[in-house]
Amino acid sequence: MAFLLMHGQKGEHLNYSLTLPSDKIKLRVWCRLANGKWELGIIVSNSGEEFVVSLLSGNIFRVSTGELLPANPDILRCADDLLQLSYLNEPSVIYNLQYRYSRDIIYSKAGPVLIAVNPFKKMQIYEDNLVQAYKQKIVDSPHVYAVANTAYTEMMRDGVSQSIIISGESGAGKTETARFAMHYLASIGGGSSAGIESNILRTSSILEAFGNAKTSRNDNSSRFVSAIYLCHFSRVVQVAQGERSYHIFYQLCAGAPSYLREKLNLRHADEYYYLKQSNCLLIAGVDDAERFQMLLEALDIVRIPKDYQENAFELLAAILWLGNISFHTGDIENHVEVVVDEAVTTVARLLGCTAEDLVVALSARKIRVGKDHITKTLTLQQAFDVRDALAKFLYASLFDWVVEQINISLEVGKESAGRSINILDICGFESFQRNSFEQFCINYANERLQQHFHRHLFKLEQEEYEIDGIDWTKVDFEDNQDCLNLIEKRPLGILSLLEEESKFPKASDLTFSNKVKQHLNNNPCFRGDTDVAFTIRHYAGEVSYDSTSFLQKNRDLVHVDSIQLLSSCSCQLPKLFAARTDDHSLGLSNPNHSGGGLDFQKQSVATKFKGQLFKLMHQLENTKPHFIWCIRPNEKQLPCHYEEDLVLRQLRCCAVIEVVRISRSGYPSRMTHQEFAGRYGYMLFDSVSISKDPLSISVALLHQFNVPREMYQVGYVKIYLRMGQVAMLESRRKQA
Ligand code: ATP
Ligand code: MG
Repeated sequence: MAFLLMHGQKGEHLNYSLTLPSDKIKLRVWCRLANGKWELGIIVSNSGEEFVVSLLSGNIFRVSTGELLPANPDILRCADDLLQLSYLNEPSVIYNLQYRYSRDIIYSKAGPVLIAVNPFKKMQIYEDNLVQAYKQKIVDSPHVYAVANTAYTEMMRDGVSQSIIISGESGAGKTETARFAMHYLASIGGGSSAGIESNILRTSSILEAFGNAKTSRNDNSSRFVSAIYLCHFSRVVQVAQGERSYHIFYQLCAGAPSYLREKLNLRHADEYYYLKQSNCLLIAGVDDAERFQMLLEALDIVRIPKDYQENAFELLAAILWLGNISFHTGDIENHVEVVVDEAVTTVARLLGCTAEDLVVALSARKIRVGKDHITKTLTLQQAFDVRDALAKFLYASLFDWVVEQINISLEVGKESAGRSINILDICGFESFQRNSFEQFCINYANERLQQHFHRHLFKLEQEEYEIDGIDWTKVDFEDNQDCLNLIEKRPLGILSLLEEESKFPKASDLTFSNKVKQHLNNNPCFRGDTDVAFTIRHYAGEVSYDSTSFLQKNRDLVHVDSIQLLSSCSCQLPKLFAARTDDHSLGLSNPNHSGGGLDFQKQSVATKFKGQLFKLMHQLENTKPHFIWCIRPNEKQLPCHYEEDLVLRQLRCCAVIEVVRISRSGYPSRMTHQEFAGRYGYMLFDSVSISKDPLSISVALLHQFNVPREMYQVGYVKIYLRMGQVAMLESRRKQA
């Protein structure tokens, strides 16, 4: 009997050729049915290319080889690590994860990566006794605690900073997983020696209040990308039906104590246009008032002063009231007047400006004609745009400020030992019916992370083996450099072209789209579609982008009159935010003349995003990475519900089979001979007769412990070990 597996390109089904056993052994196989699903069966007979298969369901099928794949023996169906599977193919992987999931085992390994399938229910697997069990290595089954423990142990042992990179699509469980990892680290380390503060747990709840919202896919969706704060915060002014704006607004409305309500003239959420427009104010099972109390506690614990907290709440209330400001068109056609009501007076009071100044800033703009300034009344649309831009600017500035306060409070960057564990919760690859600028940025970040992963796992391995004279059959893998070039290359990558167009006042969505098509049509990762649409071939699949409003979202302009208004305010925060727009060190350019008025162009969103992404990647390069992939088993956020197609799509996105294949053939553990001899050399029985050079000591140790020849390779500089060998040596070390 022989199964020869030939691995196809990522995303394709695996090809294989199958030779039937000469004896009549009943062979277990996966059989692909007409609906594309795989079912387990047994080959009953064959004639040439055709097989008769008896399925578990009792049906008998006549199929060709192309519809069959070898299945693993039952004993492997609950394997902890996909590395252990005898036959590595998509149905076997899907079935393994499904079998485990059905038994409430949500964690599995794919070689060096932890896979976490979202249970969508409370699991009894995070208790303190388990923290201790993982810490003392009493259990070693796959778990986020095990990953956190490895990161911690390696940081302490090697003195190297670590990162835990958690990826997956929206609703897959990244934020929850990050929380459990932090909980573990806070429980075991806690002390400043590890540079880990339990306060971090509190800060994540603050960031969640300001950065998370209910979307159609996740009731608590992180709308910022962890360390990269991709937000132009359009959600503040525009929320899709059934979704919510940032949690903090609802929490404030529901939970503010009466003195604060009075001070802020605060109403119920359903009285604010920005909140009620989406017809969704509540999240099932979530008490916003209670969350507000928790937020207050968290703010206190991370030592954000009370007056700062109140400043922030004033600003939030001002934003809500801004949305209630309305306009009517006056006598002169197309020209607006602000309706001066409670909304106007409240905003003015909360910001610390006069109602008159606010009205002027919202309804007129100053234009320079020669040496003079004249005032021009806005159209109705312009007035709404100015109002909403101001609200977004205030929220974005507030968000940055909150992050800054948290960092000050945690004294980030002042770690005692200079070592840290970064936990990165990164919004996974997104592909919707309609994809816009946000998806473009998120998918771009994922391309970079994917490259990091590839580099870590594939490239560096190969290069290192080759340099060190190790015999290693090359493994081909798909690099995503072409796609990164398409996006990043200067001067003719999408980002550069977007930047260039964003500086042209007269540029439009169409001119941008045409320019992109004109310059990039020859790139293998690009396809120009209809008017304002183009398609990018990402590592995880093709995504078509609608470039409508790319320019506007990238520019993210605030009117200069609005900035002037804020700088005249008596309240601290608006003044501070306005002052920052003058600060060239923040990357702000000169006022931009567009549409006859003056707009402040901050550093464009894409440029800022790219800068932050590069900084993040640079930080990651200097850490030892640990990867966790979160999988969303169904669209409905239901427990015990596993949709094979959905899981398969996600597993293909992360090329799980390739990763397992490479890990199986590689040597994941490696140490220099110096390190190896230093750590285990003292256990040598016969240290006298062996020369003192580390390489000889290493080889002698391997012989002494009878490490099988296929389990290691000796390079010029390092020793390379297969999975499991270090664990064996470590246990010997403990016994010694
Ligand atoms: P987004 O990209 O939208 O921020 P996410 O990947 O961060 O999504 P989470 O918010 O972490 O997703 O998870 C979504 C929901 O799934 C959680 O609110 C929780 O109900 C459930 N969930 C995730 N992981 C677990 C877990 N380990 N145990 C119990 N429930 C979980
Ligand atoms: Mg999240």
